[in-house]
Amino acid sequence: MDLRGVGVGRGIAVGPIRRMPDPLPEPDDAAHPGDAAAEFAAAQAAFAAVAAELTARGATAGGAARDVLEAAAMMAQDPTLADDVKARIDAGKTGQRAVFEAFRAFQDLLIGMGGYMAERATDLGDVSQRIIAHLRGVPAPGVPQSETPFILVATDLAPADTALLDLDKVLGLITREGGPTSHTAILARSKSIPAIVGVTGALELVDGTLVIMDAAADLITPAPSAALIADAKSRIAARAAVASIPIVDGALADGTKVPLLANVGSPEDGPAAVELGAEGVGLFRTEFLFLDSKTAPSVQDQQEKYSALLSYFPGKKVVVRALDAGADKPLAFLNSAHEENPALGLRGLRALRASEQILLDQLTALKAAQDATAADLWVMAPMVADAEETRYFVELAKSLGLKTVGVMAEVPSLAVMADQVFAAADFVSVGTNDLTQYTMAADRMLGSVASYQDPWHPAVLRLVKMLGDAGAAAGKSVGICGEAAADPQLAVVLVGLGATTLSMTPAALADVRAELATVTLEQARRKALAALASSTAAGARAAAAAA
Ligand code: PEP
Ligand code: MG
Repeated sequence: MDLRGVGVGRGIAVGPIRRMPDPLPEPDDAAHPGDAAAEFAAAQAAFAAVAAELTARGATAGGAARDVLEAAAMMAQDPTLADDVKARIDAGKTGQRAVFEAFRAFQDLLIGMGGYMAERATDLGDVSQRIIAHLRGVPAPGVPQSETPFILVATDLAPADTALLDLDKVLGLITREGGPTSHTAILARSKSIPAIVGVTGALELVDGTLVIMDAAADLITPAPSAALIADAKSRIAARAAVASIPIVDGALADGTKVPLLANVGSPEDGPAAVELGAEGVGLFRTEFLFLDSKTAPSVQDQQEKYSALLSYFPGKKVVVRALDAGADKPLAFLNSAHEENPALGLRGLRALRASEQILLDQLTALKAAQDATAADLWVMAPMVADAEETRYFVELAKSLGLKTVGVMAEVPSLAVMADQVFAAADFVSVGTNDLTQYTMAADRMLGSVASYQDPWHPAVLRLVKMLGDAGAAAGKSVGICGEAAADPQLAVVLVGLGATTLSMTPAALADVRAELATVTLEQARRKALAALASSTAAGARAAAAAA
């Protein structure tokens, strides 16, 4: 029977599935047979084996992945943890139980510290599972090793797992949990891995079953017929052909320009964006640079990083977002208090305003980067609620010498107040991921509500229209920088609603460029009107296709 979920991107993959092993059950709290020395020796051997394996995997992966894996290997060699395990074995626990308890105690300690330390508790849990798996003689949790390509099926994947995926082996990703705009999904899209998330029944797929997964259709077909396989393969080839079409600037069939920009997370993303034809940067997620920092970055450090990115785009627009800390992206130096609902908490501009020196330092660094490079720097604030917050940010940034200053539309209240917002800001960029999350009241991290996380919903589109109309009336730019811009059909509708630029992961540029070239502005507007008049996301998608 076919399975459904929420597709990330437009990719198609055909291949056998491999299940990510389930987490191990908690080891029994039973006494060991009596030989504490043998029990501890086995535990020590497991610690050493896991440390060696993590180090070796790090060396193979290289780059940022190596740092993540080496940090995990260090945890497996931590003498304090080994001492604690020994003490528990001496007190009668089995090696497995002692490892479980010692790591859990340490994890609790980290969680109690909050922020960055609490984030590391997950990594510690992963190391503990690996050591216990070794002691049990069962496969370690984590992405299975395989000589041949496969489609990975998992309950969920951490961003760190996704970053490490071997692209020669992993053809696609299917998860039971996770929303289409979770950061795991965003990473999958940036690596061009077809992914379908929030798939009920994913874990019932038997290892080795051949499936077709079609992210654009949100569909997984197990044991497909030869005809379906042939059709899927020809569509995969057609997609590859689109990617090789010569790069031109983004434009509609009637010549209306729609600049296509890149979403980036570090200066290292610059060259690939340029190579794939980005006409500038529409969203630089600066907080990605500092996810592991315990203290606020210096002005000097920031200036170097921002200048490095800007230097790839002389004469081009680069939109840099002020640190967007909180919810799924906590920064230790900006978010400390525990919040029951962090997505509704002190995040984005709210957190920056509460720690104003950090905002001043970032804006100072950006002003220096503006002066030091030939790029056209635009600066914007995340999570802005209304015109008062807009004025606060714009006035502050301009008082420090920044030329072009705007805000992101991610909170529905900002769209409702769009006329006032445009009176205060030079531009608005719509973050459709959060705008959808808040409009639909559906946590973007949660698989159980993934179906609500659909920017095609007419409620979201109506808010975009309010922003588009207000932007046109003010004669100002209305960008889109959420994942919605990377969906070619939706990109057309967004232009019809008044978007003047689209920004996306560079991997999506070719598909969107090709689709825009097939419609005129009048046709895009007609499709937008049809979508706005629908009552559901699926209805809007169908109505836009038919219009
Ligand atoms: C968004 O919310 O749409 C956005 C672009 O920001 P992020 O995905 O980083 O929250
Ligand atoms: Mg956002």
